Amino acid sequence: MSDYRNDAAWARAEDQDDPLARYRDAFSIPRTDDGREVHYFTGNSLGLMPKATRAAVERELDDWAGLGVDGHFRAKHPWYPYHEAFLDTGARLVGAERGEVVMMNTLTVNLHLMMVSFYRPTRERYKIVIEDPAFPSDTYAVRSQLEFHGIDPDDGLVTIQPRDGEHHFRVEDIEALLHEHRDSIALVMLGGVNFLNGQLLPLERIVHAAKACGAKIGYDLAHAAGNVPLRLHDWGVDFAVWCSYKYLNSGPGAVGGCFVHHDAAKDPSLKRFAGWWGNDPTTRFKMHLIPRFEPHGTAEAWQLSNPPILAMAPIRTSLEIFDEVGMARLREKSLRLTGYLEFLLGEHGRDRFEVITPADPAERGCQLSVLVHDRPRERFQALERAGVVADFREPNVIRVAPVPLYNTFHDVWAFADAIARTD
Ligand SMILES: *Cc1c(COP(=O)(O)O)cnc(C)c1O
Repeated sequence: MSDYRNDAAWARAEDQDDPLARYRDAFSIPRTDDGREVHYFTGNSLGLMPKATRAAVERELDDWAGLGVDGHFRAKHPWYPYHEAFLDTGARLVGAERGEVVMMNTLTVNLHLMMVSFYRPTRERYKIVIEDPAFPSDTYAVRSQLEFHGIDPDDGLVTIQPRDGEHHFRVEDIEALLHEHRDSIALVMLGGVNFLNGQLLPLERIVHAAKACGAKIGYDLAHAAGNVPLRLHDWGVDFAVWCSYKYLNSGPGAVGGCFVHHDAAKDPSLKRFAGWWGNDPTTRFKMHLIPRFEPHGTAEAWQLSNPPILAMAPIRTSLEIFDEVGMARLREKSLRLTGYLEFLLGEHGRDRFEVITPADPAERGCQLSVLVHDRPRERFQALERAGVVADFREPNVIRVAPVPLYNTFHDVWAFADAIARTD
């Protein structure tokens, strides 16, 4: 990795040699007011649109216009089994087996549905462990689940924090916390990649720690899905949820993803909220003839309603791209691209820019969170003037996510050049 150079020509040459470079053309890149392509670094917030998505949505509109209800079976991609398109692509994305992933609802909704099944507090075992800072929606969801069960969140919520003066969670602190509350924890629910500091937790190790104390383990993979390789099945995660509008490029408010481990799904004692799309499809349309719910034996059992086809079409085009490239190749480029960003920031001095994302590439995805010590707001404005789209968290953190599918080494160079140039 030491061949990096702070030089626009070097970055351009690197782009020429990049085996994934052609995928950038598959995306619509927004432009500045004067017509230049922006340097887009907010794929961790809203991923860019694959050009194929427009035609995919229009296809469904055309089939609806031309076929009406017959589209359920006669559309180009029949609507009745539409969600089955993701059985393989969705599973490969997160290292699941076929049947462990279903695309449905949105993240927070799925988190609640998962907690209905996997958070079953008893008098002794009722606590939920999350990280602090956690994404606000996760905190709200978890606190409201505690309250729903009549538990005071100040008692039932256990949070893991970085040590004073540190920016990362230490896995040994997580393990110690789980051990300390080992008899009272019902659920461990953590973000796979933290939205603020960009830290990728050692997910497999935490599964072991959670199971060792008899708790269920679920992950929020909003910042991990499509960003880092995952092996949810092998790791023995009970459930996971993620959204599709960040790294998965499926559009604003896109339908989210949900993983339920086969072993967990098979547990007959598991409770869940039911709807007709979670029923065994062979008896789903017997409707009033069989009023009893017959759950699908997989993650699909958690589906409630029939899927929103117009909202599912973008996931189809997006996951096809991920499936074609594969997470291994994406990760390879991602490591090099984010490594380049880290190198360039280092060139400009730690007293000005402190990367609060872990330095070990195994402990992060593509995002770097940069603590700007010197005039953060002015520097952020300089980025905007240079056509850079990044994200500012008060009071002084700039989050930058070079996405391997469409960002270039030159994008990264342009970012570093602009952020350093306000002097
Ligand atoms: C983006 C994000 C969410 C968003 O939740 P929605 O229900 O999709 O609006 C939730 N949690 C985390 C950790 C996120 O990063």
